[in-house]
Amino acid sequence: MKTKKLIIGNWKMFPVNAKDAKAKFVAIKKVASTLRNVQTVICPPFVYVSDLKKLVTGHRCVVGAQNSWYENEGAFTGEVSPAMLSSLGVESVIVGHSERRANGETDDVVSKKVAAAIKAGLTVVLCVGERERDQDGDYMKLISNQLKSALQGVQKKDFNKLVIAYEPVWAIGKHAVRAASTDDALEISILIRKTFADMCGKDGSCVPILYGGSVDAKNAWEFLLKSQVDGLLVGRASLDPKVFAEILKAADTTK
Ligand code: PEP
Repeated sequence: MKTKKLIIGNWKMFPVNAKDAKAKFVAIKKVASTLRNVQTVICPPFVYVSDLKKLVTGHRCVVGAQNSWYENEGAFTGEVSPAMLSSLGVESVIVGHSERRANGETDDVVSKKVAAAIKAGLTVVLCVGERERDQDGDYMKLISNQLKSALQGVQKKDFNKLVIAYEPVWAIGKHAVRAASTDDALEISILIRKTFADMCGKDGSCVPILYGGSVDAKNAWEFLLKSQVDGLLVGRASLDPKVFAEILKAADTTK
């Protein structure tokens, strides 16, 4: 049974130096390490992963990665492999974030990355989400296809190495059109569970589902309570330790 809420901070390409990254992590860890009902994962830019890993004490606040390539080594300039992350002791990686998809990452590449990360022993936080919502509900088909495509190289026995983050692109980042409603997120968490149920013949509840997109200290609690999600993927608000601490504390109270 999943009891802890999973709260992942995606730091994107912030902050600009290691000193700030370490200070933010220490401030977040101070609060996160006191919370019994929350698992916190901070995903910094690659260059800070080693530094932050050294600051980890215990299991409540750990370090993940924002991306990984689909081969473990080779002529792939600028890429970081899942085996490299694994060798640093990183346990989870975000794959298929919409900001990477917007820069040309295709469903095919996402699916190869998912399979490679799982093979390297990492837990994959797979991001899915529509760019916009249409009246006919085609976005539901799109999300379910994104999921099926991304998981085509994953065996059912490895589904326990997956976390699915529903991130509607229109609700992410500073260009967000609006925050998603708790009903928007609920609708898709049900869809994701159904898609898993279709794929593995079980009820699909074994895979944790996160919501992400303009989460802040005010709406975090509502998403956790009303959208049937197991946690949150937080971008901008995870870079402000005070705001992120409020989100973590809210999550701690929603058992
Ligand atoms: C994200 O980058 O995954 C994200 C959800 O961003 P934000 O919280 O800033 O909308």
